[in-house]
Parts: sequence; structure tokens; C-alpha cells
Amino acid sequence: MNLILIGPPGSGKGTQAVRLAQAMSVPAISTGDILRKAVQDGSPAGRAAKAVMDRGELISDEMMTDIVSARLDEADTRPGCVLDGFPRTVNQAVALDRLMDGRGHVVVAELVVPEAALIRRLTMRRVCRRCGINAQPESPACRCGGSLVSRADDREDVVRERLRVYECATRPLAEFYGARRMLHAIDGTLAPRLVTARIMNAIDASLGLELQPTTVCKPASASPWRA
Ligand code: AMP
Repeated sequence: MNLILIGPPGSGKGTQAVRLAQAMSVPAISTGDILRKAVQDGSPAGRAAKAVMDRGELISDEMMTDIVSARLDEADTRPGCVLDGFPRTVNQAVALDRLMDGRGHVVVAELVVPEAALIRRLTMRRVCRRCGINAQPESPACRCGGSLVSRADDREDVVRERLRVYECATRPLAEFYGARRMLHAIDGTLAPRLVTARIMNAIDASLGLELQPTTVCKPASASPWRA
């Protein structure tokens, strides 16, 4: 079982990816986290990515596809995975189709949240400088003891640019997956545990659909309605 989470920045993909990956016993793969780790490690790829991320723009499709392809080669993804932040463009979605070939069922959940709420959530968000996880609201420090900071790309002007990029580059994915009947729109303004429950229900429903026999055909002579 593989789950793709799409939704604008601040819609709760990261939180849901962790919760759902735990529930499904598969790894959560966050391309944003992979990139931030590369930036922190000072690798050449990280140095190249930093400026692009700080402007709220997207890293190239080729680089992102290579990163995800390498991650999907790792053995822990064999039972499935939750993808958070990939794909973000139709080109990436086409590349992901190839990467998912033979990996079983794929469901897409889109978290829907109004723009004003996204801006409020992102500009107020604090993350741990040490471990990178989102802080609990109003907590003075992270559970790991690290101090809490704003992400460089959560400044209001950068947030607005990220939302603009989402509309142009990522929104078309809803149509891409909707046309294949893989997409489940989920109200992302609900409490996190309710969002998780709705996504789990959507997964169950889509599995149920897939397991239904497509046609049940009886021989004409067996029909009780025939004379
Ligand atoms: P996120 O943590 O998912 O909001 O990602 C932070 C930033 O990383 C984004 O604003 C992009 O600059 C970059 N990024 C993450 N995933 C992708 C992707 N699939 N394609 C292009 N850029 C990405």
C-alpha cells in the first residue's frame, strides 16, 4: 500500500505522513526533510538546493526524481510508503508512475485548507533547530531540548510565493489523479486525528473498490428469471 499526500504548504502533510506511516507500518518519505538534511550536511546537492528553497521555488524534476528513486530502492519501502511532498509537478507524477510500477496499490489524498488558514499556520509555525520536527503549539522548547525557530521559507513573502508556485505547478495534479479516480479530497481544517481517520477510510474504500469483482456473469440458463 502506497499513499501519496498532496496539498499546499501548511496543509498538514508532514503531520499526517508521520501518523499514517505509523498506522500502515511503512516509512514516511518527506522530500522537504531529505533536502533540509542535505542542506544541513552541506553536501553539494544541499548547497545547490538551499537558495532555491529559501526563495520558495521548486527544485528541478530530474533532481527530485533521482532522490525519490534512490529512496524507493531502499528495502524498507518494499511493503509501501507514504510520500509527503512528491510529486509536486505533473512531470514528477509521470516519473513516479514508472517508479511505482509493480509496487502495489497507490492512493492519493489531497488535503484541502483555505489560503488564509495556510498563511496563518505557516507564519506561526516553529520547528526544532536540532531535530527539525514541528513544535507543539505554545511549547517553549522541543521535547529533545532543541530550541524552536521559524523555517527560513515560512516568512510571509516566501509563504505567498510557495502558495503561488503550488497553484501553478502542483494544483494540476488533482486533475491528473482525479481523472484516474485515485484522488480523495480531505478537509484539512479538521483536527489531525480526524484527518488521519478520513484518509484511512479513503484507503479502505479504495481497496474495497479494487477488490470488488468487475463483473459477475452467470450462464443464461442459470438465471432464475428466465422462463
Ligand atoms: P516542504 O517541506 O515539503 O514544504 O518542502 C520545502 C521545499 O523543498 C519546497 O518549497 C521546495 O523548494 C523543495 N521541495 C520539496 N519537495 C520538492 C519536490 N517534490 N519538487 C521540487 N521541490 C521540492
